[in-house]
Amino acid sequence: MNWDDFANWSKHIADWGAQYHKTLRDRPVRAQTKPGEISAQLADEPPTKGEDMSVILRDFEDIVMPGMTHWQHPRFFAYFPANAAPPSMLAEQLVNTMAAQCMLWQTSPAATEVEGVMIDWLRQALGLPQPYTGVIQDSASSATLSAVLTMRERATGFSGNRDGVNGKGSLRIYCSDQVHSSIDRACWVSGIGQENLVKISGSGARYGIDTGALEAAIEADIAAGHTPAGVIAITGGTGVGASDTLGPVLKIARKYDLYTHLDAAWAGSAMICPEFRDDFWQDVDGFDSIVFNPHKWLGAQFDCSVQFLRDAGPQLDTLKIEPEYLKTTGDALTNYSEWTIPLGRRFRALKLWFLIRSYGLEGLQERIRNHVAWAEELCSKISAMDGFEIATDPILSLFSFRCPGDDAAQQRLVDALNADGRIYLTQGAFEGRKIIRVQVGQFDTTREDVMAVCAVIQDVWGQIK
Ligand SMILES: *Cc1c(COP(=O)(O)O)cnc(C)c1O
Repeated sequence: MNWDDFANWSKHIADWGAQYHKTLRDRPVRAQTKPGEISAQLADEPPTKGEDMSVILRDFEDIVMPGMTHWQHPRFFAYFPANAAPPSMLAEQLVNTMAAQCMLWQTSPAATEVEGVMIDWLRQALGLPQPYTGVIQDSASSATLSAVLTMRERATGFSGNRDGVNGKGSLRIYCSDQVHSSIDRACWVSGIGQENLVKISGSGARYGIDTGALEAAIEADIAAGHTPAGVIAITGGTGVGASDTLGPVLKIARKYDLYTHLDAAWAGSAMICPEFRDDFWQDVDGFDSIVFNPHKWLGAQFDCSVQFLRDAGPQLDTLKIEPEYLKTTGDALTNYSEWTIPLGRRFRALKLWFLIRSYGLEGLQERIRNHVAWAEELCSKISAMDGFEIATDPILSLFSFRCPGDDAAQQRLVDALNADGRIYLTQGAFEGRKIIRVQVGQFDTTREDVMAVCAVIQDVWGQIK
């Protein structure tokens, strides 16, 4: 393809993109595809001769599009959002086009320097104090793994990388039973092991970790000869938004000299609103590591996960490796690949720069405040529906409900709603029962879209009950 053709097709795709977004409400949110239906339409073998872009794009429309679930649909209320505000998409187009590999300062100084400043903008936006620096990762899973590896190294006098973890005894990590599966996986692959991830039940209005039980577990482990290594807290757990009370968790972690990581992958974006910080994030500034995903609620095109570090030293001591071919001159330079597990890195900071400048913090705050208010309004509407009950009250913009009937009835309703296609909801589990989750957070959603949930549920429930 020559560059004139590239320019023409790029314009075509930009027009297609605008049209796609303007007409999203006409499409079913979740793909209505059967397993194997898409792959059956693809050629069994790669073509030997090149094909024309017009043919490729026609097949994209005919074959691929029907198999897409529309995450940018304004009536997407499943999982958590993966927003892509248009300015961040434009930045991604530029990044795609330059296709720079930004592993070292030298391999694209602008990428490193914009990243440093964006981390600092977000630090200020989230009300974190000066000592925090940070790095952009691909996912919260990677940031959490980095933090767990740091816990491992710190608890073994930075000898785990060298000697392996055999013979180091049982390193123990503590968290609530509401944490995301990425915490389990980080313990698996760090060599710590599932058995050494101690999960403590949550309680109270926000299902936060029981700190009395946390301290008792640490004491019991010490008495048993284990080595406590770290504590992982959550703000906005995946299931129902469980949020720990941070101050008391930190106090215990400090008492036993444990490294601390906070998973705020979803809810962290809401902390750009000071009122939510007062409510959810008191004492947050004691955490050694904090992760949040601007690619979820804030509007940065996937992927973009920010890990803040109070002191980057321990993580660098854990992950930094410098073979001859990666050495560069200039000691004071930041080489972000030394902060993370993958070496290669995309220029993810550009979309934050475009996003934050384009909306300003006020524009982003307004969206999040609306989402929270609309979730509360919708929740009270559903609670008034005959036989329906609220299973968990709104935590920020996430709540869950149950329809009349047993667990199977919940799943029947979810499946029927998603086959209907006007909205997209997913199920979860809480206290041994199946629940239906609702989260409000898509960037373009309106109050009308959110309130439509109630009418659609009523309609679909009427058909299946
Ligand atoms: C989404 C989510 C994760 C995982 O995020 P990835 O970036 O997909 O790895 C972890 N924790 C919580 C609370 C989440 O909501």
